Amino acid sequence: FLTLGIETSCDETSAAVVLNGREVLSNVIYSQIDIHKRFGGVVPEVASRKHVEIISLIVEEAIKEAGIKFSDIDLIAPTYGPGLVGALLVGLSYAKGLSLSLKKPLIGVNHIEGHISANYIQHKYLEPPFLCLVVSGGHSHLVYIEDYDTYEIIGKTRDDAAGEAFDKIARALGLGYPGGPLIDKIARQGNEDAIDFPRAYLEEESFDFSFSGLKSAVLNYLNKMSMQGIEIKKEDVAASFQKSVVEVLANKTIRAAKLKKINKVALAGGVAANSRLRDELSLLCKKYGFEFYYPSIELCTDNAAMIAASGYYAYKKGRVSSLSINAYPNLKIGEKL
Ligand code: ATP
Ligand code: MG
Ligand code: FE
Repeated sequence: FLTLGIETSCDETSAAVVLNGREVLSNVIYSQIDIHKRFGGVVPEVASRKHVEIISLIVEEAIKEAGIKFSDIDLIAPTYGPGLVGALLVGLSYAKGLSLSLKKPLIGVNHIEGHISANYIQHKYLEPPFLCLVVSGGHSHLVYIEDYDTYEIIGKTRDDAAGEAFDKIARALGLGYPGGPLIDKIARQGNEDAIDFPRAYLEEESFDFSFSGLKSAVLNYLNKMSMQGIEIKKEDVAASFQKSVVEVLANKTIRAAKLKKINKVALAGGVAANSRLRDELSLLCKKYGFEFYYPSIELCTDNAAMIAASGYYAYKKGRVSSLSINAYPNLKIGEKL
């Protein structure tokens, strides 16, 4: 059973062919990072236009690389939310056209559920139920995956997403965009106990996150140092900031797994590429006897293979979309629209 995944929710144009929801035959990713870099973030209008220019090329490439024909496709799975509405519409419209002309079913995929599903590709025997910490550029969630296509949100961010915090701090440190990988890199040369930034655990029983307080604390620290003419060590700031984020994320994840009495813990989303976060969770999971799963770096950030995997399982659960399906920029995890 061949699923064609199509991803255009933000600044990656991607198409992939996935066999039986797990085996990647092709996963073509065109990143617009170099275009948006000079603006310090993604410019929605520019992103949409670039998707329009390149979408058919990327899909054709994915078909070719998989060694199949268009007519071999059994299911077409585009991302339909959350994301930038203009960007989403490009992939979704293209998929609708394909579904109509090939007479093959269409299934709209939730981008964040896609991130979670990257784990199915990486770990061929991973099956629900499991707990997943999803941390990406725009989202931070603790999710209980009860079954394929059945999600329960345990906690979420009340303000900034984890990736957003990484990107903003990197910008303040003058590191460039996107900031996550750059902070990850220089933090290795820093002392993570150099500066005592706050940990936002919120109320005792809460599984929610908040990163805006930490962000302000780091920015205040940088201002204070610059006003006093004290030279800062970027590596130490990056490492101390990263430790504060990672500690809270990892501890809440473990606590949620205990609450759900589940011994399988997974990581997903762009920030799942963070080496410090992987190490911390891997250590804690070992300590508590949990199995720990995370996708390869390429499957952590935006790609269409994860979208195809998610679409495949939703379809197998009996879901299908009509040709009138719309794009939903604020689509929630588990929401079926
Ligand atoms: P969303 O999935 O929420 O719609 P997005 O698709 O833009 O947002 P992703 O592609 O999932 O986000 O992830 C990109 C984010 O991951 C960026 O914020 C980036 O800084 C962050 N990121 C990537 N690598 C790392 C890393 N090694 N450490 C920390 N953050 C990272
Ligand atoms: Mg991106
Ligand atoms: Fe994403």
